[in-house]
Amino acid sequence: MPGSEFQLIQAYFSDPLQPLRPDLVLGIGDDCAIVAPREQTNLAFSIDTLVSGVHFPDNTPADAIAYKALAVNLSDLAAMGAEPAWFTLSLTLPEASGQFSHEAWLHDFSQALFTLAREHNMSLIGGDTTHGPLSVTIQICGYLGKQGGLKRSGAREGDIIVLTGALGAAAIGLDIALQQNHAHYACLSHSDRQAALDALNYPQARIAAGLSLQNIAHAALDISDGLIADLGHILNASNVGAELELEKLPLANSLACLDKESAWEKALTGGDDYELCFTVAKEDWPVIAKKHPEFTAIGSIMAQKGLRLLKADGQEHIIHSGGYDHFG
Ligand code: ADP
Ligand code: MG
Repeated sequence: MPGSEFQLIQAYFSDPLQPLRPDLVLGIGDDCAIVAPREQTNLAFSIDTLVSGVHFPDNTPADAIAYKALAVNLSDLAAMGAEPAWFTLSLTLPEASGQFSHEAWLHDFSQALFTLAREHNMSLIGGDTTHGPLSVTIQICGYLGKQGGLKRSGAREGDIIVLTGALGAAAIGLDIALQQNHAHYACLSHSDRQAALDALNYPQARIAAGLSLQNIAHAALDISDGLIADLGHILNASNVGAELELEKLPLANSLACLDKESAWEKALTGGDDYELCFTVAKEDWPVIAKKHPEFTAIGSIMAQKGLRLLKADGQEHIIHSGGYDHFG
């Protein structure tokens, strides 16, 4: 890319306030970054790409794009029980135009990126910059203990299925951002609508929860595509089934305009919540529940395959969207 633009990137992505990590040997500016991992550790890697118009609406502000791009990667580390360390950033930016100024966009983007990175003591150690339709890729790396890693394949019959927080706010936020399904949010106050948009744009990666589950959870993942689809990954990988008690689902306040069954469906199939779903032995659950009143037990792992959604009267609830058929 032309020298002046390269200088621009350098200016925005060399943050003097970045944490000085003792395990970083060489950061941005050379052909590669070099890290010196702590001894007796394994490294966990993940990468996610966000494409404008696909993974976020075209009108999303730059700071929200930065925040989300890093947060979804942090969420993958959280789901593995890993401790964040370093990340790299690949940016594809449209040519500068009347609507799109690199200076303004990069300023907002980099401020938000570094603010979140500092909260997790992470360093940006390199990247790449090209021209094209707006897209952001972050690769993240974090530490695991030698035996660590909360895999999807460890769920066992009798385990309790737990969520780290409420579901459905981000799906309402998407309705609001796209100005669709007006009835889903018509009854919400201005501040409730803002909370739903914030849930969509500024997801909170459950790093501390993931670390605390390291030696106790049997299986875990983060919910990006909706609970049904994502819990299905645990069930398939672990070769088990599950029963969920719908009345126990922790529903976000943003679902207040929906009747109960529609709220369940939004919570079960809406994406982008980034809470963790994990399974734990029945005898270990009371200790965790006491330490984490924000966690909710929603069901159990069963030997019988498939996912059954039960109402309070024990009747099975069939939902009509969100890929339920995969698990019948
Ligand atoms: P190369 O031609 O060797 O790939 P680049 O010109 O792409 O080098 O990048 C030069 C340096 O700037 C490298 O250290 C690279 O990691 C860093 N860099 C480029 N773009 C970004 C970015 N968007 N974020 C962080 N670092 C970047
Ligand atoms: Mg390059």
